[in-house]
Amino acid sequence: MKIISINAGSSSLKFSLFDMDTNTCIASGYFERVTLEGSFYTIKYNGEKIREEVDMPNHTVAVEVLLDRLIKIGIIASLDEIDGVGHRLVHGGDQYNTSVIITDEVIQDLRKYSVLAPLHNPANILGIEAVRKALPDIPMVGVFDTAFHQTMDKVQYLYPVPYDWYQKYGVRKYGFHGTSHCYISKQIPRVYGKEEYRAIICHLGSGGSLSAVRNGKCVDTTMGFTPLAGIMMGTRSGDIDPSIIPFIMEKEDKKVEEVIDDLNKKSGFLGVSQKASDFRDIYAGVVDHDEMCKLAFDKYVQTVVHYIASYYVELGGIDVLVFTAGLGENSSEVREAIVAKLECLGIYLDVEKNQVRGEEVNISADHSSCQIFVIPTNEELMIAQDTLSLIDNR
Ligand code: AMP
Repeated sequence: MKIISINAGSSSLKFSLFDMDTNTCIASGYFERVTLEGSFYTIKYNGEKIREEVDMPNHTVAVEVLLDRLIKIGIIASLDEIDGVGHRLVHGGDQYNTSVIITDEVIQDLRKYSVLAPLHNPANILGIEAVRKALPDIPMVGVFDTAFHQTMDKVQYLYPVPYDWYQKYGVRKYGFHGTSHCYISKQIPRVYGKEEYRAIICHLGSGGSLSAVRNGKCVDTTMGFTPLAGIMMGTRSGDIDPSIIPFIMEKEDKKVEEVIDDLNKKSGFLGVSQKASDFRDIYAGVVDHDEMCKLAFDKYVQTVVHYIASYYVELGGIDVLVFTAGLGENSSEVREAIVAKLECLGIYLDVEKNQVRGEEVNISADHSSCQIFVIPTNEELMIAQDTLSLIDNR
């Protein structure tokens, strides 16, 4: 059984091809600058990286090129080998709490929720339509970023604003990175050894979010109505006082979209350090005694600890703390700095075990009140697994 997982952005398309008998990724690739001049792709296969510049004026051409190269490179012999395609979909509103077979109705709903994710949902639709044209008889499944968080109680997802904003416009917390949080929550029983658990999952990447999870169900999460909320990120501010927005509009004579753009693209590590959005550059600055990089590092740790403390109380204590995604999996320094602030909760890591990058390891100290794990996330595999299970059960 072979399944492709697709993540379509407005000018990009990522794919991974999985052999579902072994849950292994056979090939993966990134198609960039789709719809723009200078479009190209890179495909990783058999330890090699193939790069080619090809004119890809739209997503349909990108998918055609992808399928053509899968055969030309010899990754598959024919398109008949592809049993299903799973799409990462960003926003399913409060309607989709699980993955679904993609139908015309699902596409209509994606259009309906485009108002809540104007950058992402239209791009996801382009990806679906392109694959449908190229592979009309192959089942497609949609895996929503928001679905995992649909188990939150109203008390958690409601904002304390006029209630009719929620009723009329769907203003509420939705949460994102759900595929990653879901994947990790499914790994916890295996690594922790029990089905029943209270966990905080720290997905720390260039975007980042935490979730509070009880027995596999999301209780709370840090991202909100949009992915701008929650912890500080690479270029996103995370939570701020909303009154800052009109204040800066007036001071800098900016439109609201410009200030929101500043909060999305010029804040976070980049905004505080004034140097870089990539954590590796920030940490290089810390080692070099750069004060602003140190401030950005400390601010980041503070926002993550703030939410761990909050979720610790919401869950009534925790059994498991997980670090995942780019920084969470690879930066022993960030993990150490975060856990150092959790001593008052009896949470300690083992400094030696913590010297790990991108591997599944239990890094807790023997006397820690909860188990601490590094678990690499795998959103693409999660999408492929959901796709397989839905097409199997049709
Ligand atoms: P992601 O969005 O999950 O790909 O994560 C990207 C973030 O992870 C960036 O800020 C990177 O700097 C950070 N990251 C990736 N690899 C490493 C590494 N080896 N050490 C520290 N940070 C890393």
